[in-house]
Amino acid sequence: MKYYILFGPPGAGKGTQAGAISEKYNLKHISTGEMLRNEIAAGTELGKQAKELIDAGNLVPDSVVEGMIESTFNNNKNVAGFLLDGFPRTLGQAVDLDEMLARRGEKVNAVISIMIKDETIKQRIQHRAEIEGRADDANEETIKNRIATYHKQTEPLITYYKNAGKYQEVDGECGGIEDVRKAMFRVFKGIDRKFMERQVVLDDSLLDKVQMLAQESPRLRMNYDLRNSEDDQSQRMLNVMLPGTHTTIHKHNLSSETVMLMRGKMDTVFYNNKGVEMQRIHMGGDTGVFGVNIPKGQWHTFEVYDLSIIFMAQDGPWSPLSKENML
Ligand code: AMP
Repeated sequence: MKYYILFGPPGAGKGTQAGAISEKYNLKHISTGEMLRNEIAAGTELGKQAKELIDAGNLVPDSVVEGMIESTFNNNKNVAGFLLDGFPRTLGQAVDLDEMLARRGEKVNAVISIMIKDETIKQRIQHRAEIEGRADDANEETIKNRIATYHKQTEPLITYYKNAGKYQEVDGECGGIEDVRKAMFRVFKGIDRKFMERQVVLDDSLLDKVQMLAQESPRLRMNYDLRNSEDDQSQRMLNVMLPGTHTTIHKHNLSSETVMLMRGKMDTVFYNNKGVEMQRIHMGGDTGVFGVNIPKGQWHTFEVYDLSIIFMAQDGPWSPLSKENML
């Protein structure tokens, strides 16, 4: 499943653009604002609670929207993915979404933002009030508060997703609706391009490049994905590790793992169920050992002496390690 976030201030045109995108990519469009307005129209308990907050331009509690989001994920199995519009809107929601997706073995694929100036937000919302008659669009104070709420609570998500390397921006004032749509489609097309631009030849210059990226990382390591697309059902990567990096003792229950050392000096260490070391395989240097096939279900870790680069391959897509698979 793909999980895309359509981001931007109120009035940026997220709802306007969402239809064409979700149709083209077979995504389920989830607008939390629209879901809440439906609850209000249906007179549900949730709607009654949300109405006052929405009419004042405030946010409803995180738990309310997160519940709606999770049940929509659960009830839509026959789509290629989801296009989230109006969610997440706070850092708390973004962190909760990451956790919710990790539990499902998934992650946010990309955040596509439509950006407009504050002055344009006001004009667009006032214009929309005349057409759609939304209560929270009609009142000047509410509009002001929604803009302030956006800057205070939602804008920090830009840095959050930039740091995760997932943020892309489209200028929402680059022309008319059609121009913005074209710009959005260009972004969607480009999302998988990072895989197309992967280096084909695995040579010294590539190893130098990934080595530099690991040296800049606080975790003292980095992965260079060698798959062709996010949808590849395998794991093939270069894994760069610097001395001092810590890998917990772990195991993979679904596939064996092949590790080939391309640069450096390190040990692969096997443990029993109690965490007692059973075998230590020295690799690199003058050991004459280049790699290890780690059996399915074998507890293991890596200890790194010199900056080491391994090629790592496993069957099946990546998913976060669960507690039972870590010692
Ligand atoms: P929207 O249609 O996205 O502009 O949302 C309309 C209103 O619904 C917002 O001003 C909030 O009061 C509420 N709302 C929508 N999405 C969320 C969310 N993710 N978190 C909290 N409140 C939300």
